[in-house]
Parts: sequence; C-alpha cells; structure tokens
Amino acid sequence: MKLIKNARIITMDPQRRTFDQGAIAIKGSRIVAVGESATLEKEYRDAEIIDAKGMLVIPGLINAHTHLYQILYKGLGDDASLSNWLKKCVYPMSLVLRGKDCYDATMLTAVEMIKGGSTTYVDCHYMNRDLECQDYIAEATKVSGLRGVMGRGTIDSAPAPEELRESIPQAVAECERVIKTYHGTLDGRLSVRVEALNEKLASTEMLRAMRGVANDFGVGINMHIAEASERVKETQERFGMTSIEYAHSLGILGPDALLAHCCWLSEHDKQLLADTHTSVAHNPVSNQYLSDGVAPIPELIKMGVNVTAGPDGACSNNNQNMFDVMKSAALLHKVHYLDPEIMTAAMVFEMVTINAAKAIGMEKDLGSLEVGKYADLAIIDLEQPCMIPCFNPLSNLVYSATPDVVNSTMIHGEMLMRDRELLHIDEKETLAKASATSWDLARRAGLA
Ligand SMILES: [Zn+2]
Repeated sequence: MKLIKNARIITMDPQRRTFDQGAIAIKGSRIVAVGESATLEKEYRDAEIIDAKGMLVIPGLINAHTHLYQILYKGLGDDASLSNWLKKCVYPMSLVLRGKDCYDATMLTAVEMIKGGSTTYVDCHYMNRDLECQDYIAEATKVSGLRGVMGRGTIDSAPAPEELRESIPQAVAECERVIKTYHGTLDGRLSVRVEALNEKLASTEMLRAMRGVANDFGVGINMHIAEASERVKETQERFGMTSIEYAHSLGILGPDALLAHCCWLSEHDKQLLADTHTSVAHNPVSNQYLSDGVAPIPELIKMGVNVTAGPDGACSNNNQNMFDVMKSAALLHKVHYLDPEIMTAAMVFEMVTINAAKAIGMEKDLGSLEVGKYADLAIIDLEQPCMIPCFNPLSNLVYSATPDVVNSTMIHGEMLMRDRELLHIDEKETLAKASATSWDLARRAGLA
C-alpha cells in the first residue's frame, strides 16, 4: 500500500474534482482512494508514504500516437514534405532496421516518456522486414515498466520499397500471432491494436483484412488518414471519394477506430467521424514539421468527436515531449482560427488524459485519478522556475511546463522515477546504447 499525501491533485474524474491538500491511496496496480489528505492519512496509517508537499499530481499523460522505432532516425528527416521525408529518411533507415534495434528505440523512448510524465504509448509499427520487431518492443515494454499499446501495422503498396511490403496472408498471420502472444499480457500493462498504415501505402484488400483481424479478436484498429492534401486528392481520383469516405466504405470507422492526423476533411467527413464515434489522434507538432496542414480539431470537438493527441514519431517532431504537444495543440488553433478562445488548456488536457483513454478503449482503467483505475500518474514539482507563480495549475501544465518539472512518475502502481531518478532503468547505459544503435543504422543505410 502506498499513500501520496499533501498534494494538489487534478483528478480529471467526471466531476473534474481538484484537491489543494489531497491524497491518493494505491494498492498493487490500482487506486483505492482519492480524497483529503487529513482523512486518508488516518485511514491508511501503515502505507508507504510519498510526501508530495509543493507538488501537483496529475493522471499520467497518454502518448496517443507515436512510432517508437523512429526515435533512432531523429534529425535525418528535417525540412521535407511527408513523401520526401519517407524517401530520404524513413525508408532507407527502415530497410536496415532489425528487431533488436527496436528494443533500444523503445528503451530510449521509455526514458524520455517516464522523465516527461508520460505513462502510456500508442505505437504504430509498420516496418516489418524483420518480423521480430514486435517481440523486441514487447520485451522493452516489460523491462522498462511502461504501459504499451502496440500497433501491429502493415504496408503493401508502392511507393514503399518492395522489401518493406507484406503480403496479406503474412500480415494477417503475424497480427494474429502478436495479438495471441501479447494482447492483455504483463498484468494488463500491454495490449495490441492493428493497422493498415494509410490510404496510400495499404491496398483496399489490406485495409479490409486488418478490419477483419480487429473484428475477429476484438482489438482496436488504427489508421493514418488525410495527413497531406495530395493523399486526399489521389484518393478522390482513384476511388471517387474522400479519404474518410473511402475508409468508411471499407468499414474502418467506428468506436474502436483511432485515426491519426485527419488534416484535410470535408464537412461530410467530419460528420462521418462524429456519426460513427470514431476517435482522432491529433499530431500538431508533426503536422507543422512536415507542413501537412492544420487539422480542424476545434470543429471536430464541437461536433462531439473524441480527440486525443500525440507527438507522432520522434523523427517528425523531434521528441516525445507531451508538454510540447499540449502547447502546440492550443496555440496552433488559436492562430489558425484567429480566435484565442477556440482551444483552451482544459480542452487540451482532456485530449492527453481521459479522451486518450477512451480512444484506446481503456476509459475504465486509465485517463483519470479515480478509485478502481490503474495508478498511472505524474507528480509535478510546482517549485520549478517555469511553474511559479501557480494561479492555475492547468494553465501552467499546458503553457509553461517542460519535462523537467516532472518529479516522479508511477505506472501500474510502480514508482518508475522518484525525485528525477529512474528506478528501473540504467539511464546512462540506455542512452549510450541507443545512440550507438542509431549511428550504426545510419551507417548501414548510408545516411551517417
Ligand atoms: Zn504517425
């Protein structure tokens, strides 16, 4: 039993309760009480005490869209459009990417995420020249203590290099293997979703096949869609439909679907997303980095679409810093719509907590600090320079904070960082190994 006491708390529960002198009791992996510190201290006398005086406790941030492997490619794809970025950086590096490299990528991401108060990743891995990539990602998730939603992705169409394309039977068989091996394992800390990457690099048959796998196993489905305007134009030319209409015609949309990007949407597309209860993963930093466009997020939210957010891979961002994501998500829409009220700190914080949990079908377990949910949380130091003064903690979190303000991070009831020190990972060794692996990959790809 653990008791975090004397904390300011933002619960994100349905009443949006906050506490000035709050406490959270944790038994095993779950929260058993949230309330006033004075009351819970009496109730849980024997608990291991974590004194959070001067600190703020928030639900762990959910990184709702990333590509773990891309952290090794950081800095090689600057100043290019989406299609050129794939050509000059992502394809050449991925042709030499091996499963064991994905272990180092996931461990490096784990260090950055845990030190930045992020507790869950939602990955998409579609570079399957080495079919063991998923196994190494799973192993690193186990070792690091992170909560993971592995995305078993696939591509089968030009202009992706032949070597990176999968046949439909292989993709289906591998998805089934990964789901059977890892979905719901690590005491519920690891789960699996499937994905045919997007409307360009996956065929109609592959998109249908992945929807079939998702239905057969009751796992969610992800897709990248309407990211760059040329993708939507091409889809219109090939199928006589917008990208969203095309995905809808294949049965992709639905409450278990999480669509990344959605930058280029017609009015009908927005209505389809709302009507089908499809979730959207907004990637404001990546969309700026690749000059994709501005997703009409405030309009989607107004129509009732569940919107979450992520950094995207760390070679179109170029980090896994959720504070950057939050700030960009707010500022991008304020300037795009020339309306300072269109996106507030409160709306953005919902995206990376409760909305994200709902998007991955885990709203009963994650996204807020409530009794019965997993103890995934971050303890924020309010005595750091960028957090002073703290009139409004939510404002400071979105507009002022950097990852350095995260004092401690807990996942699944386990303290993974305490007073900025990682307790389960050898940080120095992990960083050195990831750096060496990146250089080795770049040399083999001819990009070093
Ligand atoms: Zn992506």
